[in-house]
Amino acid sequence: MRKQIVAGNWKMNKDYVDSENLISKLLSLHNHSATEVIIAPPFTNLLAATNALKGSSIGVAAQNMHFAEHGAYTGEISATMLNSVGVKTVILGHSERRAYFNETDDFLAQKVEAAIENSMRVIFCFGEELADRKAGQENNIVASQIEKALFNLPSEAWTNIVLAYEPVWAIGTGETATPEQAQDMHAFIRQTVANQYSSEIANNLSILYGGSVKSTNAKDIFSKPDVDGGLIGGASLDAEHFYAIVNSF
Ligand code: PEP
Repeated sequence: MRKQIVAGNWKMNKDYVDSENLISKLLSLHNHSATEVIIAPPFTNLLAATNALKGSSIGVAAQNMHFAEHGAYTGEISATMLNSVGVKTVILGHSERRAYFNETDDFLAQKVEAAIENSMRVIFCFGEELADRKAGQENNIVASQIEKALFNLPSEAWTNIVLAYEPVWAIGTGETATPEQAQDMHAFIRQTVANQYSSEIANNLSILYGGSVKSTNAKDIFSKPDVDGGLIGGASLDAEHFYAIVNSF
């Protein structure tokens, strides 16, 4: 059975004190349901987060990492560094990394490989732009993103992969894919993985939806059979709002 996951991507929000406050509110609302909860604070708050969440079932993810182990990469953080502060999950391929930091699928393939080699779980993000959808190219774009970044992985690596379909036109815009659009794309993604690997791998793969998920639309989106949860941006910065989404299964 694949896992239901709700992950909060805090992006470049919350300083150290705000982060501590938000985590203690999250802990007070956490109800140990079957849904796995993950938060992704900025790098400066990761150690505080793993310490504060020790013994709880809320997981901690980084928002990015470099593919090298160490070296002359000013400003970057490696998988071993993340592991050393107890972080075992990393978000890679977010559309903001692609748009503002020119991260391509070929480049991301190296990061994914490094994360997997370091026994980390990857939440891999991808999704089409509005122009792609208007041109009816969304399936081709998504298939190509997955293929370039992930299809060089061996089958056994897929137990450590979570996919996050995030149509770029729905991120931070208030515009959401309809539950039907999300379901259609998630079913297509699962089939694409099944064709390349196996139905077993595809059926065990959690595919999250991301893009303006709120407490008001989460239930409808999560009710779709191929939607296994959400990657939440803006709404993850408020504990009550985030837990209303977590409790939407
Ligand atoms: C995200 O950053 O991954 C995201 C989905 O953002 P938002 O929920 O704010 O659209």
